[in-house]
Amino acid sequence: MTPLLELRAVGKVYTRGVFARERVVALKGVDLVIDESRPRIIAVAGESGSGKSTLGLLVLGFLQPTEGAVLYRGKRVDALRGAEYWRFRREVQAVFQDPFAVFNPFYKVDHLLQVPIEKFKLAPSRQAARLMMEDALRAVGLRPEEVLGRFPHQLSGGQRQRIAVARALLLKPRLLVADEPVSMVDASLRATILESLRHMRDAHGVSILYITHDLTTAYHVADEILVLYAGRVVESGEVEAVIRAPKHPYTQLLIDSIPWPDVSRVWGAAPMTKRDGTEARANTGCRFAPRCPAVMPRCWQVPPPTYHLGLRRAVACYLYEQEAEKFNPAEPQCMAAR
Ligand code: ADP
Ligand code: MG
Repeated sequence: MTPLLELRAVGKVYTRGVFARERVVALKGVDLVIDESRPRIIAVAGESGSGKSTLGLLVLGFLQPTEGAVLYRGKRVDALRGAEYWRFRREVQAVFQDPFAVFNPFYKVDHLLQVPIEKFKLAPSRQAARLMMEDALRAVGLRPEEVLGRFPHQLSGGQRQRIAVARALLLKPRLLVADEPVSMVDASLRATILESLRHMRDAHGVSILYITHDLTTAYHVADEILVLYAGRVVESGEVEAVIRAPKHPYTQLLIDSIPWPDVSRVWGAAPMTKRDGTEARANTGCRFAPRCPAVMPRCWQVPPPTYHLGLRRAVACYLYEQEAEKFNPAEPQCMAAR
């Protein structure tokens, strides 16, 4: 079956400066398959500057790849026209860190919810529109009478973020891209918002790309995880497998920095260290080589390929070359880690 969304060897190079002399390789060789028949929450984790938001924007069609292709129901997103384009716009929705930063502060919540209903002609009457709004708000745990009629600044960060989820939900999306949706709300509300994402998956069959710099929330909310380092997927798999038994030296370092016995309690602890990745970009081989405790001579020369260690389990590190040879996928893989 054609996947809902697919990234094939996607790369993104930003250019800036005079005659585009400055080039930033934000993403390289990213493969991802999102299958509608089995909605899952896929975490994209990595430190600041690793390319997470770029990946989200590519999936949303807000950016075009400079290499490879982003396919929606088998068609290149940049080639969608007419009804297909609008179906894509409706089915693939976004929730950002502070969605209200991009909304007009002079509009009430009602208006913010009304716009998509009108734009996509979702309701036959004002009354029907009102009922839709109320349902969407209740679905994210808000009481309509408490938030309708209010302005964004009159609501808490957590309420605003849930309204953003409700707004996305109105459109009955098949995929939600949530870029750091809880990094601006306090710890007590994080669980509620993450719960509303799980509810979207379970009750509404929505797949979610959950973008985060924080492994602990990824572990709690996601089914699968992709770990990005300097624009490459270094490891991917079922979240349980990756977090409990990380393969890539980078993932191992990240996980060692989390106080494990407390993981169920320390929401948002152990953020990944901020680095600009310049040293990682300097060599022609593996970008993690300069920081890698297991670095070998070949790592400096050619970037390692992605080795598949099982269904939905992959790692881009020469240490796993032999282990990968033993694994021979019997059927084509259709999940995140192909
Ligand atoms: P993350 O979301 O993981 O912090 P981003 O996707 O925002 O990472 O950025 C990845 C890399 O691309 C960074 O080095 C960043 O500086 C660079 N970058 C992001 N957006 C642009 C842009 N519009 N122009 C030039 N470089 C950019
Ligand atoms: Mg980002």
